[in-house]
Amino acid sequence: MNVHTPTTSLTPNQKAQRLTGRPHITYSEVTTYQACPAKHYFQYVEKAPPERLSATMLLGTCIHAAIEHLFNARMAAEPLPTVDQLIETFRAKWNAESKDIWVEFASGQDRETCEITGRTMLTTFLASDQVFADAEIVGVEESFKVKLMDELPDLAGRVDLVTYDGKTVTITDFKTARSIPDGEYDQGPVEQLLLYSEGCRPIAEQLNAKLKLQFVYISKGKEPKIQAIEVKPDIHRACRTKLIALSVFEAMQRRTVYPSPSPINCSGCPFKSRCKATYQFGADCTVR
Ligand code: SF4
Repeated sequence: MNVHTPTTSLTPNQKAQRLTGRPHITYSEVTTYQACPAKHYFQYVEKAPPERLSATMLLGTCIHAAIEHLFNARMAAEPLPTVDQLIETFRAKWNAESKDIWVEFASGQDRETCEITGRTMLTTFLASDQVFADAEIVGVEESFKVKLMDELPDLAGRVDLVTYDGKTVTITDFKTARSIPDGEYDQGPVEQLLLYSEGCRPIAEQLNAKLKLQFVYISKGKEPKIQAIEVKPDIHRACRTKLIALSVFEAMQRRTVYPSPSPINCSGCPFKSRCKATYQFGADCTVR
């Protein structure tokens, strides 16, 4: 016998499970819904296979994989990998991620230019003080789940690097970007890092240490720059972000789904054909 469970009697984790098959939410799920509820639906509810992969995003993913290799070696007290070894990791990640999907290159970009860019970035990174020679590596790609509010499902996340220098636990999120941004509080991902700090607080408490949050930017181009940008704790901003996440989760639960087309949203969207087939608007604003 099938027993229908009213949504109101479900816990937030059960509600999330019912919608997406996962008993939690992620920060990127929330921001995907905020940008375009239809894209959220295709990606997290329908689980439609993506139609394309942006080469720029793939480059960032491959740089992250190489940096993960570097810090895993440091954590295991092994010799630091060479640039050639990091490029092997970069290539393996590229091959794995692009196996069954069309990679969309920007004008003047191809696989070779992406690898040259990756090599230059990794060479600069290896020579920088961001290899954290003086700090102990506590975690690499450290996963966590944290309860932010009673009404919200657990937030699941992963931080790139956790280090400890005897006094301070530092949470580092690596970013690849065309250029280093000005001013830490202009950054959209700051909210993400503020929420993630709640998931990492137990590590700092266990070590009786202060908690520091930072982005480390690695810029692209012929002469990449590496820059750390500290994010100061901001209770009000973190609280506002939790309330926004709650509103978004409630809208998801009401199954409010609509497309939100714009050049920024749609240019890199991996569900363009799926969207076009679902929402067939004519030029006179009638639905065909
Ligand atoms: S193509 Fe644009 S409107 Fe359609 S799902 Fe993607 S981002 Fe949303």
